[in-house]
Amino acid sequence: MPLARKPFGPAGTGLTGFVTRDPADASTDPTDAERAQLDAAVELLAGRRMALLTGAGLSTDSGIPDYRGPDAPPRNPMTYQQFVGDPVMRQRYWARNHVGWHHLRHAVPNAGHEAVVHLEERGLLTGVITQNVDRLHSDAGSIRVVDLHGRYDRVLCLSCGSVYTREGIARLLEKLNPGYLEQVGAEWDTAPDADAEIADTEGFTVADCPVCDGMLKPDFVYFGENVPKERVRLAYAAVDDAGALLVAGSSLTVMSGLRFVRHAAKEGKPVVIINRGQTRGDDLADLKIDMGVGTALQYLARSLPEPGRTQHDAGAQPD
Ligand SMILES: [Zn+2]
Repeated sequence: MPLARKPFGPAGTGLTGFVTRDPADASTDPTDAERAQLDAAVELLAGRRMALLTGAGLSTDSGIPDYRGPDAPPRNPMTYQQFVGDPVMRQRYWARNHVGWHHLRHAVPNAGHEAVVHLEERGLLTGVITQNVDRLHSDAGSIRVVDLHGRYDRVLCLSCGSVYTREGIARLLEKLNPGYLEQVGAEWDTAPDADAEIADTEGFTVADCPVCDGMLKPDFVYFGENVPKERVRLAYAAVDDAGALLVAGSSLTVMSGLRFVRHAAKEGKPVVIINRGQTRGDDLADLKIDMGVGTALQYLARSLPEPGRTQHDAGAQPD
């Protein structure tokens, strides 16, 4: 299995040394070239409400590594079939998730997430569709969020349907595996789904459902698994209610996100993609901007006029 080699935070930060940033620290100004492109985006999007689709590129400023950023080598996450079908794979998954979760749970929203809240407050968004499981949009204060690929703060029982907090399951896992976190130490990499790259997971004891002893699974949509229908419906509704689609920080590698770009393009709605590096939706976009999404979203949140107003109106000072 190819493993990401992207270091997670500065060396030696350890389990308690998660890199948290004050959102204001991440605030940077676009370059002149970026500003010209962003102004073109403002022109294209002005007067329209947007659906916003976000991916891992938005959370990198919060210290959460990207699967497919320019620096990240390809990586093969475990499939649903492997997880439910193979006790050894499941043990491996939970051991790595246990370690990774303790690391990622300290992440806080960055300036990009704050800009999204601002866009929503100004009535410019019909909804946020996110491929991230980190809950940072909700933590920042966004209201209409579709967690397309699930959420890492919840665990489901596949037998009885019980829903647990990840926090509670973490305590259970600690009781079952005393000293495991200390034994593993902090010399490993992790991924946005809290999959820490621990080599030796054989001694790890997996927790069963406290109600029915059934199989527990993090509330993620795994590879090989479909996004629940209701979630897909809500996401399409956000796109249908919108006059444009803005993509921020996703390479659109998986169809679960790309389909909304295809849908908007088919409906003749402008599509703007902001991402570092190529995306699978570039051919469908009216405008593609290759830059950091945090800076771009802050600029758009400042510069876009209210829905129904033109860019010219927005620039005019009230009497
Ligand atoms: Zn159960």
